[in-house]
Amino acid sequence: MAEWLLTDLHLHSTFSDGTVPMEEVVRLYGESEFDAIAITDHLYDTQSPRSLELHKEGKSVKDLESYFRTIDGLAQWAKKEYDLLVIAGLEICNLREDYHILGIDLKESIDPNQEAEALIEMIHRQGGLAIASHPPLKLSYFLQGDNESIQHHPLHLWKNRNRYASKIDAWEIGNREDLFGSVGLERFPYIANSDFHDRKHLTSWKSLIFADKEKEAIKKAIVERKVSLFFFREDREEPSRQAGRVPEEPAEPSEIHAYPHEGVEGARVLIADDERDLVEMLSYNLGRKGYQVLKAYDGYEAWKKIESGKPDLLILDLMMPELDGWELCRIIRRHDDEGIRGMSILMLSARAMPEDRVHGLQIGADDYLVKPFFMDELILRIGKLSQKRKMVGNLCGEMEHLRSTTQEKEVSLRKAVHDLKNPLISVGASARRMLRRNRTEEDQKLLTLIYNSSLRLTRWVDEALVPSDLSTRSTTEDVTDVLIQPVVERAVDSIRDAAAEKKIEVHFSPSPSIPSIPCRGDWILRAIENLLANALKYTPEGGRIDVTVTSYLEWKQGGVVEISVKDTGIGIPEKEIEKIFEPFYRGKNAQAEPGIGLGLCSAKEIVELHGGKLLVLREPGRGSTFSILLPTGDKQERKEVEAESVI
Ligand code: ADP
Repeated sequence: MAEWLLTDLHLHSTFSDGTVPMEEVVRLYGESEFDAIAITDHLYDTQSPRSLELHKEGKSVKDLESYFRTIDGLAQWAKKEYDLLVIAGLEICNLREDYHILGIDLKESIDPNQEAEALIEMIHRQGGLAIASHPPLKLSYFLQGDNESIQHHPLHLWKNRNRYASKIDAWEIGNREDLFGSVGLERFPYIANSDFHDRKHLTSWKSLIFADKEKEAIKKAIVERKVSLFFFREDREEPSRQAGRVPEEPAEPSEIHAYPHEGVEGARVLIADDERDLVEMLSYNLGRKGYQVLKAYDGYEAWKKIESGKPDLLILDLMMPELDGWELCRIIRRHDDEGIRGMSILMLSARAMPEDRVHGLQIGADDYLVKPFFMDELILRIGKLSQKRKMVGNLCGEMEHLRSTTQEKEVSLRKAVHDLKNPLISVGASARRMLRRNRTEEDQKLLTLIYNSSLRLTRWVDEALVPSDLSTRSTTEDVTDVLIQPVVERAVDSIRDAAAEKKIEVHFSPSPSIPSIPCRGDWILRAIENLLANALKYTPEGGRIDVTVTSYLEWKQGGVVEISVKDTGIGIPEKEIEKIFEPFYRGKNAQAEPGIGLGLCSAKEIVELHGGKLLVLREPGRGSTFSILLPTGDKQERKEVEAESVI
């Protein structure tokens, strides 16, 4: 079955001018998980002085018979050991005519002392493939100041490329670190090879060939241009497949390409791009780094894979059929699922205008890279994104842990507070009993102090406990139809003594026809008590508190009961009107009174849990009015109340 084969069809060994023995070359490529290689040692002509010099230096294969035999033996071993296909070949170098031609899949020797056309003919007669070695001049010579190579570089084929276009099967477009853009521009079939002479040349341009792992198929695929280029970088620290890092259970085995022998990031990367070759190349390179790779060739397919595979990272092309990258990015960032919404997105696009980048980042991309790009840069950026994502994940985990420990601590704190309540009540009750007996003035004073302090502390305990009660219990539990006026009356009664002491008048005028309310009576009592306690606390001596209960009947929207507590106290500064309902907020003008800033917040919470509202009205210089609005229940009930009120 055809697959993308990792190949290098231009290798030299110590049979000619390489520094690595042939067996070692094969082992190196086998361990580096190549699929197919061709050994192509030099065979120089014997007709030019320069070639003869090279012959003398031992840079040409001399014993061709043993050369082919050795390759044959190694091929069988490599097949078994590494599933590596080893092909016999030669680099035939004629320095008189100034050409280097690779003959791939040769069975026997070839006479290098002939013109290029005849030589190509001989290669073809053996069923071999004729490839032009490094046809144009290499830029790297100039960069390295290598004048000798500039002088001796064979240029015959390239200078006469029109003549050879129909004869040469493929032209090297990549050789070591050089890429020959001009070969691409000529639109010749191309291939990239390492021109291996030394171990360091393993790191170089290589080819992926889409073919069956078999000589004829590979040759055919090259001619049919099923070749993709990539830069292979050797990682010496972790070169072997024994590293055993194949992901154990890939979620989509048919899709995931994990190459186990490089640094495993383990992150799942989806590549969404309609350029198939690019996807393959990226997939290969990311796979080598240990990423699990998913592929999609249009926006819709990408979306499906995001939903099913939930990748960690997305490499997103912008111009795709079905659904473009911009739209896909928006959909992801608005998704309900946190895993999808939070995935890292790297936009990859030929659109290089700054506005495009800005727009991409604005709509939610984490990074933006312009095509054509440098593979190492892309891998680096993907690595950074994946690290960032991992870090955020860890932080979220830690936060979750912190939240739950804080919650646990809060629960035990509340338990402790709760346990304080009973002893406090009994202290208060005892003080009250003792007060009733005749005591000296001094005793009376001290006992009153004890009584008032215990009352205050009991209220604080109540306030501190309310939020936990509310958060752990739902209102639907213990909800009954409650006649609200008696509840209000009870709350008013509870402050009468204290109010009298402070010389504050408390007025409560019951109204007729107040409907019952489906609620938790004890909670509503607590909310009203909180409002009354505040009114008492924040109203100076000689003030007045008015409590009213009113029912409003609105046939369509349902009935409402309003419980209002109006005082003539210090009032609330306009700026603080929003803040006073926040937990632990205490008004600037309220500091003289004791309190912890939880009363209003818990009252509001109670009222809202019943579907009601807690409102505040302030009249500058004339105190405050707090109103609890509670819904009265369903239509049937409203009907009854209406009938009652008509009677
Ligand atoms: P605390 O009374 O313990 O401060 P609350 O949550 O009950 O906490 O009230 C929050 C703030 O709202 C108070 O500190 C005060 O500034 C203001 N407040 C509440 N009720 C009144 C009132 N009746 N008159 C004036 N200010 C009030």
